[in-house]
Amino acid sequence: MPMNTGFSARRGAAGSGGTRDSLRRPPTVVIGAGPYGLATAAWLSAAGTPRRVFGEPMESWHTNMPMGMYLKSVPAASSISAPESGYRLEDFRAARGLGRVGDRYPIPVEEMIDYGRWFQERRVPELERQGVQGVEHVDGLFGVTLDSGEEFLAENVVMATGQVPFAHEPADLSGRLPGELVSHTSRHRDLSRFSGQRVAVLGAGQSALESAALLHEAGALPTVIVRAPSVAFGSPPDTDRPSDRPRPVRLLKPGSPLGPGWSLLACCHGGGAIRRLPQGLRTRLVHDVLGPSGGWWLRPRMDDIPVLCGRRVRSAEDEDGVVRLDVVDAYGRTRLLRAEHLLLATGYRVDVDRLRILAPRLRREIWTVHGAPRLSSGFESTVPGLYFTGLAAAPTFGPVLRFVAGTGFAARRVARSVAAGTRTRR
Ligand SMILES: Cc1cc2nc3c(=O)[nH]c(=O)nc-3n(C[C@H](O)[C@H](O)[C@H](O)COP(=O)(O)OP(=O)(O)OC[C@H]3O[C@@H](n4cnc5c(N)ncnc54)[C@H](O)[C@@H]3O)c2cc1C
Repeated sequence: MPMNTGFSARRGAAGSGGTRDSLRRPPTVVIGAGPYGLATAAWLSAAGTPRRVFGEPMESWHTNMPMGMYLKSVPAASSISAPESGYRLEDFRAARGLGRVGDRYPIPVEEMIDYGRWFQERRVPELERQGVQGVEHVDGLFGVTLDSGEEFLAENVVMATGQVPFAHEPADLSGRLPGELVSHTSRHRDLSRFSGQRVAVLGAGQSALESAALLHEAGALPTVIVRAPSVAFGSPPDTDRPSDRPRPVRLLKPGSPLGPGWSLLACCHGGGAIRRLPQGLRTRLVHDVLGPSGGWWLRPRMDDIPVLCGRRVRSAEDEDGVVRLDVVDAYGRTRLLRAEHLLLATGYRVDVDRLRILAPRLRREIWTVHGAPRLSSGFESTVPGLYFTGLAAAPTFGPVLRFVAGTGFAARRVARSVAAGTRTRR
């Protein structure tokens, strides 16, 4: 995990200059080259904003998601936003000589990674493939330190660092077991390492169910433990294109990037309005809309996998190198489960304090609500010039920010806000 390393102290010691007055136009820095970072960079570029963009393209898709995974989102909702036409997933497929696909085509994660890299080469060729070590406040600007040791000042910083820093591991489980016996799903690319082992998978969402399917197919023996009384799966789309559905069906449940239905349509297009909702309502919306469920194509792959519904893990112990789980049902009845590994598919919780590349003092300056940054309509935090996009912005703008489908809404606003903020502060 990169750590902040004290830009201002070293800068003072080295006597280097570089305040707002002595530098002409410090760049806007985008940290992260996943869908949100790439889209932001593309929109900043179109606005003529000087920028530096850092990260490995689609790194978390390559490193923190399992090989063999399929996207739950449909092709029409999986394009990275660019101001110009010609960079959608369908354009990538056409460029590769692949046919047109519709809602019934589950996208392999490998295809999404290739698409993201293709997008980066064309729209964000300036990407610098290295990490950012630290960011801190220096004379109203941001001191940025790179993995290479280079230090420079930035006028704005856009945190597009994705969900991985927010991986949620219930402390009462992960804290009681040694690292080799328990892990979060985001730590795994290759689940075949569990072949022949019993794996208890905790969670009811796509990640839990798909991990269980992949484990089973790799020769492991997964058991899924779910708190809810049952697991839910999506329904296969009737047609490849929402517009092919009969008009009454479309009126009742209009198509949207997140799926059919008026509420999902509102979430996709109403991010600005969601931001103005009372806090409690907004939190419920982000949690409840598109709650845990598996993709429709996953159901048959789960047939031979035991799923313990309506159960929670009361305690987890290391029993001579094996995980011993006390699993309890709604009536308090306990069942003992032993496994070689406990896989936590327990999701992600936004918490600014976990973004260790931000200097502790800078983190303290950011106003938060339940750990998430308070953001302006242009995605700017309470620290002028410091922006958050992607999952970190979902508690403000709603569930679409959890998905690639939100890149257009976010990147357009960030680029506009950066341009306006830069003018005002100048
Ligand atoms: C298992 C799983 C399945 C998913 N399926 C779907 C789906 O079907 N459809 C969908 O729309 N969404 C899906 N998502 C959500 C999807 O991952 C996010 O919508 C998307 O990745 C958000 O893009 P991002 O750019 O914000 O984050 P990321 O894609 O995570 O990109 C952030 C990048 O920042 C980089 N980074 C972090 N710190 C630094 C640093 N200090 N310096 C430089 N770079 C840094 C990381 O390496 C990473 O590459 C899924 C997520 C998971 C975990």
